[in-house]
Amino acid sequence: MEIRIKGLRKHFVSEGKTIKALDDVDITIPANTIFTLLGPSGCGKTTLLRCIVGLETPDAGEIRIGDEIVWSSSKNIYVPTEKRKLGMVFQTYAIWPHMNVFDNVAYPLQNQKVPKDEIRERVAKTLAFVQLEGYEGRPATNLSGGQQQRVALARALVAEPGVILFDEPLSNLDAKLREETRKELKTFLSELEITAVYVTHDRVEALALSDTIAVMRAGRIIETGEPKKIYFGAESRFVADFIGRANLVPAVVKEQTPAETIVECALGRLACKKAEVSGEVTLCVRPEFIHPQKGAGEERRGNIVRGKIETLIFIGDAYEGEIRCGDILLLARLDPEMDFAPGDAVFFEISSGQCLLVSK
Ligand code: ADP
Ligand code: MG
Repeated sequence: MEIRIKGLRKHFVSEGKTIKALDDVDITIPANTIFTLLGPSGCGKTTLLRCIVGLETPDAGEIRIGDEIVWSSSKNIYVPTEKRKLGMVFQTYAIWPHMNVFDNVAYPLQNQKVPKDEIRERVAKTLAFVQLEGYEGRPATNLSGGQQQRVALARALVAEPGVILFDEPLSNLDAKLREETRKELKTFLSELEITAVYVTHDRVEALALSDTIAVMRAGRIIETGEPKKIYFGAESRFVADFIGRANLVPAVVKEQTPAETIVECALGRLACKKAEVSGEVTLCVRPEFIHPQKGAGEERRGNIVRGKIETLIFIGDAYEGEIRCGDILLLARLDPEMDFAPGDAVFFEISSGQCLLVSK
């Protein structure tokens, strides 16, 4: 089901101060996609999710799920949570420790007074789907973190909702398990006809899982797009910096050619990806686009940057290096096989497509 949100506002008053948790949010979440709200802690992600679910009452705006308006300030509509046909998975597993797996998953159906035989059938089917066949009788606390999260997923899916909402569901898992569970989740969701709204502050999780990412900051959605667009074509400095590791260098636009935008900055005069910008901007170069070679590259022309290796840290699959270019220290990922040492003079060539210009 599609979700349409218009002009949504919600403020809180805390210790005499007004916090705009949602400051005029407009989004359309297409049906049957994985849509991620990504942003730093406190930017309003959970509040937005809670408004969609009906656990929070907005101050103004409208929320539509499928064809139905579930909340509207001007039309005075409020559809209670249990009538919104949603499934939810939270950060804490939120499964009931005193119940076994079957009872945890069956709970939403028992609440709806579904006949017993049908409950048994649907729980079995859902448990098979999340690969927990045969776990019905297990006490929920007797499961690993990943399995508990799958029980929570099964419980959210068992009533066959059109929309499922996740609030940082993997943040309590350790790094390796988080990666595995992320992969599973992507597989599960892609097999279902369901709209998933996924909240996280973890950029890798957002990039890996999503069809669309909406980046939030201070109660507002500031950019929306598919993961590659957000990563390679961010429009603002905030998004460029938040979505990945970035070298951000102040720059001034000097010239617009038909294919490129030419800037002057501490790294020199560089041709950048064409952008409709002028005056002072920020140049964003990702560390993984910097491939230094030894020497000064005197004879080279074009998009050449010269500097000196300042630090190198071995992290297994790469060296994390810092390259000093005048006043600027550039972060770079260097091939671990290359024989660099601090103090080496280096240069690198960078394509204009990898020099992204974002708002100051
Ligand atoms: P996120 O999920 O992105 O971390 P939240 O939606 O939880 O952010 O919170 C957004 C802002 O609203 C934060 O500044 C938070 O402190 C504030 N906030 C959220 N819930 C309440 C509440 N019940 N009372 C007061 N302030 C709140
Ligand atoms: Mg939150």
